[in-house]
Amino acid sequence: MINIAIDGYSSCGKSTLAKALARTLGYIYIDTGAMYRAVALYALDHGLIHPDGTMDKEGLINALPSLHIDFEYSKDSGQSDVLLNGVSVESRIRNIQVAELASRISQLRAVRNKLQQLQRAIAQKKGVVMDGRDIGTVIMPDAELKIFMTADPEIRAKRRFEELKAAGKEISLDEVRNNQAIRDYEDTHRTEDPLRQAADALVLDNSALSPDEQLKLALDWVKKKSKQAIEV
Ligand code: C5P
Repeated sequence: MINIAIDGYSSCGKSTLAKALARTLGYIYIDTGAMYRAVALYALDHGLIHPDGTMDKEGLINALPSLHIDFEYSKDSGQSDVLLNGVSVESRIRNIQVAELASRISQLRAVRNKLQQLQRAIAQKKGVVMDGRDIGTVIMPDAELKIFMTADPEIRAKRRFEELKAAGKEISLDEVRNNQAIRDYEDTHRTEDPLRQAADALVLDNSALSPDEQLKLALDWVKKKSKQAIEV
């Protein structure tokens, strides 16, 4: 078994590929974005975001020790749900408001330290597929396979728009496009662990690839990297 790190811009299909890989290989899948989203939801639920949009950073940092983030396998979805203080928040974190806030709170060093500690502990085992922004560069720099995903921004926005529409969310393509542009900018320009392609990452541009084609390509890479890992 090897470890697989998947990084890339938002709405690039990272989690679709990561889940498919984990299912096919029998590996554990860890969605690190869901952890940042759960912290963002906590901030919203606890009045740490003021009506004018500013954040009570100190309040959030002080609350971090009492905040427990975990994953639990859900029979309903067949996937791991993220738990915030023991309660599944999956259904509440998949929206634009939480995504935008997650991007903001993830810039705080204290938040990253807390979540990264957990992610590193999970990565100690082999057979982990983890996706996020800093997985190949910071969390699993020794992962045998690192994938950096990218796709044409307009294609990404349309895909995400269709997904949100299908989930019954009321949102325009323009809003999705703007949110994506802001998150791309913030994720690549922040001081703390910005999104970067690891030097040894393999680039997967999925603008014109179906999920099956992406999985096939990634499984070929897994085969090669597993062979290399045995030979070393
Ligand atoms: O991947 P997802 O869109 O769910 O992530 C939500 C936000 O969490 C991202 O926009 C990013 O700012 C942040 N994030 C991060 N580091 C990670 C995963 C997510 O900073 N490893």
